[in-house]
Amino acid sequence: MKEQAGKDSVGCSEFQKCLTILHLMLDNEASEEEESYLHNHIEKCMVCFEQYQVEKQIRELLRTRMKKLEVPSDLANNIKTKISQLA
Ligand SMILES: [Zn+2]
Repeated sequence: MKEQAGKDSVGCSEFQKCLTILHLMLDNEASEEEESYLHNHIEKCMVCFEQYQVEKQIRELLRTRMKKLEVPSDLANNIKTKISQLA
């Protein structure tokens, strides 16, 4: 594996794996091993770090809004669209 990172669409070859763990973490279903893998990874990987922040914010936003209003799924979709445009 001599290829440079940053040539694929999202700039991280572990992106899918990280995303899977990230979602597990947000659902509190990740193992300690998976959590520490992701934490180590996002210290070095900006792509996954930003994804982590965004997903966390979406979750918090939804959780807060859910108490008062209906879930603003448009908002979450907007954020996700922006992210995919950035990637
Ligand atoms: Zn990454």
